[in-house]
Formats: sequence, C-alpha cells, structure tokens
Amino acid sequence: MDLLKKRILEDGRAIGNNIIKVDEFLNHQVDPVLMNEIGKEFKKLFSDRDITKILTIEASGIAIGAFVALHFGVPLVFAKKAKSLNIDDDVYSTSVYSFTKRTDYDVKVSRKYLSAEDNILIVDDFLANGRAALGLVDIVSQAGASLEGIGIVIEKGFQEGGKLLRDKGFRVESLAVINHMGNGEIEFN
Ligand code: 5GP
Repeated sequence: MDLLKKRILEDGRAIGNNIIKVDEFLNHQVDPVLMNEIGKEFKKLFSDRDITKILTIEASGIAIGAFVALHFGVPLVFAKKAKSLNIDDDVYSTSVYSFTKRTDYDVKVSRKYLSAEDNILIVDDFLANGRAALGLVDIVSQAGASLEGIGIVIEKGFQEGGKLLRDKGFRVESLAVINHMGNGEIEFN
C-alpha cells in the first residue's frame, strides 16, 4: 500500500535494526484518514470472505481494528490485557510473549463476543515473531470460530512471524513488508 509506505518513510523512526516507531500516525497519535484507507484496503483484500467479526489486541490494534470493522460493517472485538490468566468460564484467555516489552502477558476475551458461528479476521499493527497473532489464533480456536485471515499493517519480513503463520496455513495479508532496517534506513519488499 503505497500511501502507507510513503508515510512510514516520512514519519517512521527505525530504532536499532528491528524496531520501528510509528507514533506519529499509528501508535500514539492516530491519522484517521490513513486509518480509513487501511480499513478500505483490508476490506478489498478479504472481500471474498464472509467476515462476521474483527479481532485485535489492545492497545495499538484498536484504532486500526475500528476502521477495518467499519468497512466490513461488523463489530470489532479486542482482547484485553489481564493481570493474571482468568480461569473463569466466561472468558477465553491465553498468554502472549511481548516483542517490545520482552515479557509474557495474559489476554482475555469474553465468551459473549465470540462464538462458533463467527468468521474472524484478525488484525494488528505489526508482525514481528508472530506471538500476538498466535495468541489471537488460540482465542479464535477456543471459541470454535472460523479464522478467515490475518491482516497486518506493517510486517517485518526479516523476522520469523510471517513465515511461521503462513507455514501453518493461515492467510496473512500485510500492507507494508519491511525487508531490511539498519542505520536509520527502512527498506521495503
Ligand atoms: P510479535 O508478537 O509478532 O512478535 O510482535 C507483534 C506485536 O509487538 C505487535 O502487536 C506490536 O504491538 C509489537 N511490535 C512488534 N514489532 C514492533 C515494532 O517494530 N514497532 C512497534 N511499535 N511495535 C512492534
């Protein structure tokens, strides 16, 4: 998605050789015009699927997810970070290793909002090693719902997540794939 790549080059900041800060338009301040285009693009990419819910993870997935949900005309559900794994019957829960915080955290989704009748599109801001996406896949499978695909705004193609998820047979569509970072430079696929 050219508009997104252009914006990453203009406003993204490479930290070391594997972290990008996009606080200017995605992770702190949010550009609704760009988010709207992102929502439109995911709708186009997954237009062959009968999606009933969009699933993401708080906090940075929410802004993206809301725009994607708007374009599909379906609800957004976001997995909430929990203090500890909830063993109550009323939630699906899983543990995720955080790429940026380097620690595990637990997330949960109320059973009220996902069921076996749902066709889910997972969306997230970044794909690095795939742990956040796999946590969401686990929640979809606990619900007995059907996973239709995974939509990623920025995939770091030099990390293992994309291959891992595609090798498992999941359909992953990324709007910008970064192949290389270093010396403050960002190179796309
Ligand atoms: P993964 O679980 O695929 O290893 O990492 C994805 C999650 O970590 C995303 O939900 C995102 O919040 C965070 N993340 C991974 N890489 C980056 C990055 O380069 N920049 C930012 N801002 N977040 C990242």
